Amino acid sequence: MSVLVVGSVALDDVRTPFGEREDVLGGAAVYFGLAAAYFTPVRLVGVVGLDFPDRHRELLESRGIDLAGLETVEGETFRWGGEYGYDLNSRETLFTDLNVFADFKPRIPEPFRDSEHVFLANIAPDLQGGVLEQVEKPETVSLDTMNYWIEHAPEELREVIGRVDIMLINDSETRELAREPNLRRAAATILEWGPRLIVVKKGEHGAVAFSEDWMFAVPGLPLETIVDPTGAGDAFAGGFLGYVASTGDTTPEGLRRATIYGSAMGSFCCEDFSVDRLAALDVEEIEDRFAEFRRLTRFDHRPVAGHA
Ligand code: AMP
Repeated sequence: MSVLVVGSVALDDVRTPFGEREDVLGGAAVYFGLAAAYFTPVRLVGVVGLDFPDRHRELLESRGIDLAGLETVEGETFRWGGEYGYDLNSRETLFTDLNVFADFKPRIPEPFRDSEHVFLANIAPDLQGGVLEQVEKPETVSLDTMNYWIEHAPEELREVIGRVDIMLINDSETRELAREPNLRRAAATILEWGPRLIVVKKGEHGAVAFSEDWMFAVPGLPLETIVDPTGAGDAFAGGFLGYVASTGDTTPEGLRRATIYGSAMGSFCCEDFSVDRLAALDVEEIEDRFAEFRRLTRFDHRPVAGHA
């Protein structure tokens, strides 16, 4: 089963305490696609300018990502720059040059319209809604967003949230969106708007999935090497939905496993700059990391004898 992703394709400048890179491959759709492609065929819809290097295109295609929906138009590719603080939890956006992305109107190519799973990465909510008009009958539609849209297009965002099955969103955005500081209550509020699952990403602190009648939490795996967390949230979504698309399993058990695969792909993403680690994995490494999450979280119960 295939997964369709619609979102940014970018050239990033990134500075972390461990080094810096300029003009490297980035963008939400790229991170998502590279992670998901280990599990299932990926169809990508986005836009780049004439300056987008052929080697990036070739890398994506070599990973089985179908770029029939990647438009190339006159102008420059979307560029984003960010700088991370010492512990990599704080990030300052240095610049966001939308360039050709400013006029992006997603057009879903005919052969992509039957996609069974759709991921609407962080773009304007009305464009996310426009994508849903162009696909036939996906089994799942998932959505990410960011604080900019929560603040600037709250009604449009609320409308599109009402049409999706799964939201993958970070913790501060969950609170902001629901106007509720308690994460569990915030998730409950958003669930009332329509989705049947909210997966809250908490950076190095892991993730929590909330449905109406169950919750599942996974810690962040303490990594030996963390170099650049850019794109980890999108890689998480790619692992999560790649797994769902490859199995078709949307039972609570399947969605819990998907949360672990998402966590695994997010963790790999942080181990090198740009997509360097994410693009160089094999399935065995992914399975080993899944097993590491199991070891990390396994414990048994010995009742206490009681006291006094
Ligand atoms: P994340 O670390 O999950 O926030 O994702 C970072 C990636 O998102 C980078 O590769 C950027 O190119 C891309 N990005 C940053 N800002 C935006 C934006 N406003 N819209 C779409 N993509 C963005």
